[in-house]
Amino acid sequence: MRSISILGATGSIGASTLDLIRRDREQWRVVALTANCQASQLAELAREFDAEVAVVADESCLPALRDGLQRSGTEAAAGAQALCEAAARGADVTVAAIVGCAGLAPTMAAIQQGRVVALANKEALVSAGNVMTAAVAQHGATLLPVDSEHNAIFQCLQAGEIADVRSITLTASGGPFRTWTLEQLARATPKQAVAHPNWDMGAKISVDSATMMNKGLELIEAHHLFPVGLDRLNIIIHPQSVVHSMVEYRDRSTLAQLGPSDMRVPIASALAWPQRMDTPCQPLDLAGLGELTFFAPDEERFPATRIARAAAEAGGAAPAVLNAANEIAVAAFLAGQIGFTRISLLAQQVLECASFPDPSNLDDVLAVDTEARARAAALLERA
Ligand code: NAD
Ligand code: MG
Repeated sequence: MRSISILGATGSIGASTLDLIRRDREQWRVVALTANCQASQLAELAREFDAEVAVVADESCLPALRDGLQRSGTEAAAGAQALCEAAARGADVTVAAIVGCAGLAPTMAAIQQGRVVALANKEALVSAGNVMTAAVAQHGATLLPVDSEHNAIFQCLQAGEIADVRSITLTASGGPFRTWTLEQLARATPKQAVAHPNWDMGAKISVDSATMMNKGLELIEAHHLFPVGLDRLNIIIHPQSVVHSMVEYRDRSTLAQLGPSDMRVPIASALAWPQRMDTPCQPLDLAGLGELTFFAPDEERFPATRIARAAAEAGGAAPAVLNAANEIAVAAFLAGQIGFTRISLLAQQVLECASFPDPSNLDDVLAVDTEARARAAALLERA
């Protein structure tokens, strides 16, 4: 029996994780489940999985959570500090599935316990970069990527030495607007942006997939997880989302990981690692699919990957600034305040408008995040 905590239990990754746990209930003891608010949904999950503690980040949701947990064995708590304390209770595996930099502090608290952290929350690693990887090394934690591309790369890297890697190629579906013109993109609506052709995901990452900023963030994520050098990291468009990424070795052997576009596959890989577990997913039907296609990305229409690569090259605070500005821009787009093409532009503008000191610890990263958000919001207001 192993213990597990899920930070962001009410989201898309949280639901996929709990679905796997539900199918193998005797194998797992649930320590902490968290959400932003969604108190009744969280309470229901905490009851079903007999969680030790349930935490809502938004303190105004605590009364509703307490209500939902009456006469259950689960403790209720709320607020940013409580989130970190829940993550610090320690579990054999912590699934970091909060969306955005909001997940950084609790993910770091889990890393400090020196156990397995299954990371979906890419924004946390993009923002904290070396601060997070140093903490992983210092506390002897194991960081397992859940993001499908990075999980694929992690699996392909089991077949060789990182020193023998010539290149790593991240695949990207291209999102719902892959074939749209710039004029069409300018008029894209939130509803169209969140309707991803292959994956069923939260709203923020769906918009990121539509702008290709998701791939930009993933490039930075890969840069930290797999230190082969930025010039060895490539991106290719693959609309079918069957090949999840590839690793090319020095002998020109390229290894790829394939699978259905269902996040339960990479989540299961992280939960069972270094072993394997069953999933309820359908087997790949390659004959049914017929063909797999690949295209070079178009950075004219989708500049986000270029902007993200430049931020990764600049290093220091730049990736945290990029991420913060993008979070503000995506929220503004979803609220109907800005057009679709403005999202990547805002990220670039905030990167250009100021230099920030290099962060050397968690507080520094959070300070950069706060300041970059303020600058992005000010730029939006001025426009
Ligand atoms: P989601 O919006 O469905 O769920 C987010 C979860 O985080 C929810 O439980 C929500 O309550 C919680 N949350 C939101 N804001 C919070 C805050 N301020 N403080 C504390 N908790 C907060 O998102 P998702 O699609 O599950 O994505 C989660 C993370 O996983 C993201 O970083 C995303 O990029 C990454 N990811 C998701 C997928 C996917 O298929 N959904 C794939 C790869 C990576
Ligand atoms: Mg991904």
